[in-house]
Amino acid sequence: MLSFDTIVAPATPPGEGGVGIVRLSGPQAVDFLGVTFRGKVSVSGMESHKLYHGHLFTPGKERVDEVLAVIMHAPRSYTGEDVVEVHCHGGLQILRSVLDLFLDVGARMAGPGEFTQRAFLNGRLDLAQAEAVIEVIRARSERASRVALDQLDGHLSREIYRFSDQLKQSLALLEAHIDFPDDEVGALNLPRLLAPLQEISLQVETLAGSFDVGRVLREGVNVLILGRPNVGKSSLMNAILGESRAIVNEFAGTTRDTLEEQLVLAGFPVRLVDAAGVRVTEDPVEQEGVRRAREKAAAADLVLMVVDGSSPLTDQDMLALELCRPDKTLVVINKSDQAQNCDLESLADFPCRVAVSAKYNLGLDELSAAILEVLKSDTAASDSEGVVVTERRHRDALLLTRDALRQFVVSVGDSVPLECLAMDLREALSSLGLITGETTPDEILDQIFSQFCVGK
Ligand code: GDP
Repeated sequence: MLSFDTIVAPATPPGEGGVGIVRLSGPQAVDFLGVTFRGKVSVSGMESHKLYHGHLFTPGKERVDEVLAVIMHAPRSYTGEDVVEVHCHGGLQILRSVLDLFLDVGARMAGPGEFTQRAFLNGRLDLAQAEAVIEVIRARSERASRVALDQLDGHLSREIYRFSDQLKQSLALLEAHIDFPDDEVGALNLPRLLAPLQEISLQVETLAGSFDVGRVLREGVNVLILGRPNVGKSSLMNAILGESRAIVNEFAGTTRDTLEEQLVLAGFPVRLVDAAGVRVTEDPVEQEGVRRAREKAAAADLVLMVVDGSSPLTDQDMLALELCRPDKTLVVINKSDQAQNCDLESLADFPCRVAVSAKYNLGLDELSAAILEVLKSDTAASDSEGVVVTERRHRDALLLTRDALRQFVVSVGDSVPLECLAMDLREALSSLGLITGETTPDEILDQIFSQFCVGK
């Protein structure tokens, strides 16, 4: 274990709550509790991983709070060092006083992510697991938190270690042939060496591809509600959200700005955006709206293109449709409660359609199912494959690995010297190590941990 000083930070967010937790980690954590805690059981008599009731006192014998304290002896702790947690009352001032107390007796205020960084440096977590800690905290849907918890449990890391074990085996074989003449280790069977590596290359590529799902789980899906004024976009947004947050107005062109709401749809965090009405007009405010709608449609994962089913399609409808890619668009034929008068043939390019009445909440289940259907084509891998890559950094490292393995295959075909083949494999291994932290440069590590909050 590496040796560090003793750090302290609140582990719970500032504000009022039933309990606030202050955490210490380092060689003097237990000593610092010893000089501040008084209870039925003294600190020297405390067993590891058990809570004890008592009070905290300043060196001047002033009582700070009534607390529960727990010691977690190294190495069976989050950081791998001696860790102390003090559960005090969850008030801003109390937390501040408890923190000050430990700072007074000699602890140092922890930096952002320093507890997790120590866990990584002490080998309690690899880098992918450490990064999962922040994902678990920030997850915005149940599904996102499940994927993050799996990563924290080491699912992604195990895949990476499986890949690197295979690469190491192949590299060892190759190096044996480089170091020893043929007659000692037998002739190198290149096709046999190649086959498992081609397989790994494919698996690495598939795993990198799971980032399509991972990105959605992490960042959410962008769903844009588009359509000419008065077709019922705001009403639809309200209906989907189940509450009236967007402004509904009888007069065309009143939804000038974009409104954004967050919700969770079948485990996917969704950002629902109501774009300004698309209208060809001299009005500079509207022109700006059209420009923005065009940009947003291009960036959206899914466009809900709303038309009014009770009236024929207009030029403005067609203009709005022109902004949409058919494979990323669900046409929502609104006002199904009224007599239908919409020319569906003009929508022939858009096979995904659903009829609803936003005003009377009709067809909303079908709408949710249809939204999922479109999103699922993007996220198909999420159901079949357990391991999902959620970090762009991991995806990039996997692609580097794949490229090195592809280069290896080309090099074998070109009959290059074995030393060069070994270099390709080392390159692939080093790229995998970026994910688990074995080969990650210090500045990247610092950048990763600086994204954490203090106390994590
Ligand atoms: P937006 O301009 O596209 O956002 O449209 P709004 O949501 O403001 O709706 C325009 C008008 O259409 C309002 O008077 C709504 O009450 C009405 N409306 C919206 N959805 C429906 C619907 O499903 N059926 C009927 N009959 N009227 C609707």
